[in-house]
Amino acid sequence: MALLDASDGPLTIPQIHALALKAEKGKKVGIATVYRTLALLVEKGEARTVVLPSGETRYEHAHHGHHHDHFQCRLCGHVFDLHQCPVGLPDGATLPGGFTVESHELTLIGLCPKCSEKAVKPKKAAAK
Ligand SMILES: [Zn+2]
Ligand SMILES: [Zn+2]
Repeated sequence: MALLDASDGPLTIPQIHALALKAEKGKKVGIATVYRTLALLVEKGEARTVVLPSGETRYEHAHHGHHHDHFQCRLCGHVFDLHQCPVGLPDGATLPGGFTVESHELTLIGLCPKCSEKAVKPKKAAAK
């Protein structure tokens, strides 16, 4: 699905639906079609689901299947792919207590570049 491919992070079904409507330029795309298409893509291994800490399920292109973590902006809610793994913990590492790490999935929460700009500006203005 090209629109998953073009995204900079995993998307919700309503977001994918909105993008599909835009891409089809006025042609009607039902949300049920989006659900069906995504289920098929996941089955074929072309898309994968991402479950966020909030319990929300999003979808991403499977070529993002190489290890990456996610970052969710707490203001705009956008979820980004992180291209650098912030975890300095190799797979196979053993943690105290005898836990062997096989993989990890991480979602960091904070402010995206756009929102941190917005969050900083009003403060600067008030200080003047
Ligand atoms: Zn944001
Ligand atoms: Zn990682």
